[in-house]
Amino acid sequence: MSRTPFIAGNWKMYKTQADAEMFISGLLPQVSSSEGVDVAICVPFTDLQAMVDSTRGSRVQVFAQNMHHAAEGAFTGEVSAPMLTELDVHGVVLGHSERRQFFGETDRELALKVPAALAAGLVPILCVGETESEREAGETERKLRHQVQEGLEQVPRERLAEVVVAYEPIWAIGTGKVATPDQAQEACAFVRALVAGIDADAAQAVRVQYGGSVKPDNAAELLALPDVDGALVGGAALDPGSFAKIVEAARA
Ligand code: PEP
Repeated sequence: MSRTPFIAGNWKMYKTQADAEMFISGLLPQVSSSEGVDVAICVPFTDLQAMVDSTRGSRVQVFAQNMHHAAEGAFTGEVSAPMLTELDVHGVVLGHSERRQFFGETDRELALKVPAALAAGLVPILCVGETESEREAGETERKLRHQVQEGLEQVPRERLAEVVVAYEPIWAIGTGKVATPDQAQEACAFVRALVAGIDADAAQAVRVQYGGSVKPDNAAELLALPDVDGALVGGAALDPGSFAKIVEAARA
């Protein structure tokens, strides 16, 4: 099955609205002819409305970086899926390792967030990945199995193929230490096999991204791997030129 490559840029807590506008005016002309690649920017809440407005009619989709599983409630500081869809936000990153590490996000919460995002009409990017010590201890598959199975546990089968899973080895995020092609392929194929354990057809359709120090000079090799359907890009997505080069690499 051919899967449309999906390149998403995760801005983390970078870019004021003014910075975001500057970025998008630089990016749009560079990706206007990138047919055959889905492109998204995952931006801070405060940039969402401006980026939805500035990307309307373009090929760039706008994603949030987190949401609460409930539609509304007494959850100070949180934002819900209906609040995002009202702005025409396309999707949401869920379970990024920084949210797990610094904000205590758990697989239990993700089991609620992923189906809540889908139910509201958002495309969820579920992030999974092992630490360096887990890899060294031979625990990578155990960790991925737990994260993928729990994150997808309550997703209705018929909607499974709409979820994007980002395999992001934590030791490669923001470190400049990229997974080797063999490591990335092996882990992304394992993620797909885990989805196949739930539904074989969905596993063929589901997109698995690699994330972790993807840069213009290593993107082509990673994106050519059979089970890597795109990339979740942090640092290199902050500059429109380098992000556009990664989008271009996905077209090859
Ligand atoms: C990320 O933020 O998900 C990420 C992969 O960051 P970087 O590309 O900077 O490693």
